[in-house]
Amino acid sequence: MILAEVVDLHRAGAVLDWDQETYMPPGGVQNRSEQASTLSEVAHRRFTSDEVGRLLDDAEGAVAKMPFDSDEASLVRVTRRDYDLARKLPAELVAEIARSSSAARPFWQQARREANFAIFAPYLEKNIELNKRVAEALGYEKRPYDALLNRTEPGLTADQLEAIFAELKAAIVPLVADIKRHADAVDDSVLHRGFDPDKQIRYALDTVAALGYDLERGRQDISTHPFSIAFGPGDVRITTRVNRDFFNECLFGSIHEAGHGMYFQGIGRNLDRTTVWDGASPGVHESQSRLWENLVGRSLPFWHYFFPSLRKTFTEPLEGVDAEAFYRAVNKSYPSFIRVEADEVTYNLHVLLRFELENDMLEGRLKVRDVPEAWNELFKSYIGLDVPNDREGVLQDIHWSFVGFAEFPGYTLGNVISAQLMEKIRSDITDLDAHIERGEFATLLGWLQEHVYKHGRKFTPGELVERVTGGPLTPKPWIAYVRKKFGALYGLGLDRD
Ligand code: ZN
Repeated sequence: MILAEVVDLHRAGAVLDWDQETYMPPGGVQNRSEQASTLSEVAHRRFTSDEVGRLLDDAEGAVAKMPFDSDEASLVRVTRRDYDLARKLPAELVAEIARSSSAARPFWQQARREANFAIFAPYLEKNIELNKRVAEALGYEKRPYDALLNRTEPGLTADQLEAIFAELKAAIVPLVADIKRHADAVDDSVLHRGFDPDKQIRYALDTVAALGYDLERGRQDISTHPFSIAFGPGDVRITTRVNRDFFNECLFGSIHEAGHGMYFQGIGRNLDRTTVWDGASPGVHESQSRLWENLVGRSLPFWHYFFPSLRKTFTEPLEGVDAEAFYRAVNKSYPSFIRVEADEVTYNLHVLLRFELENDMLEGRLKVRDVPEAWNELFKSYIGLDVPNDREGVLQDIHWSFVGFAEFPGYTLGNVISAQLMEKIRSDITDLDAHIERGEFATLLGWLQEHVYKHGRKFTPGELVERVTGGPLTPKPWIAYVRKKFGALYGLGLDRD
């Protein structure tokens, strides 16, 4: 069937992407970008053909009486959504977006290197215009951001997100200030004592295998920015990076990517080679990586189990350190400039700031030349730091160099959903911590498999959360989690209210 061919084309493209990020020599860039654009163009043309439309019309009749969550009804529903969105974008606009993204990239890189926003400004201007055109082509009722969000996190609106962020901001901004006043309570110097890079990579791989990442259907390589990528249920790969002088990067990078990887590995094989075989959305995907990375990997029971083997592996740097001290070190929270390096508490503020600026740009309240100043002002008020230059400010992320606005909120949704799921997991598996302390991760993995992984893209983020937890998306469990955890770590006495 056509859908299977389209999936195969995308997966072939993914193999090329993986190679580009891991082993391809620098000279391969030009040829590789031509191959990638040919594959995606062929896939796009095949998928948006009238033939697929006719098949969908027929299939919709055939599945009308089937249950909402059946494979057949889900396949038709999800394919219809993808198809309608893809058909709404004129081919010229798709091509212009591809051209303008690759044109903007080197200027963003140069601007960042020289910390000079003016070099990038004309390209950002163009990208805002293209984002607006995408929103107009897709259509929306209230705000242009809704149209863009519907592609990344279907069912969610900018207003809903604004409400979630407002609740988060009210809880986090004072917590960050509180932690800053008690900064000395947590000492993370042990993480910088020098850890042999090869041993770190090996230890990270052993750890993710122990959590349940299947190495028969996966492997780990090194790349500048860690990522996970799936070529199908039988081949789901992760990458990591390593830093001798900062322990967190490699291990937590690997656990994060393995969280994505286990999700991919767990999608039902019955859905293979269809539009449904993928994560539900970037936000739901991120909920799985953050759940394993933070809610499991940065928990005390986790370190009770893993610390003895860690100490055996790194005897010198861990001399005189115990599991509890190590747990405290890996959880140190401090305001910092770079989103991807931010800790659990401050992370969502970095995302909120980008969400607000994207809306302001899209709705015409913010002119491009004023973006750096707006960034720095928000940064000061949320995170409490003066941004020293645009390299560590507005130019840090790659995202605005291509056209995709509305991608950042997925990072915060991931945190929010991970805590909602964990609340439910703890009510279903009441002795979860005892399992983790014994190194038994199969119960947790089995739960996620049953409630999240196996469904692939059958449900939107909102539908999935509702189905699993019985309620709507809410940041309350995440707020309760960070207040409890960091209140205890920093001795903030938050349990009083
Ligand atoms: Zn991730």
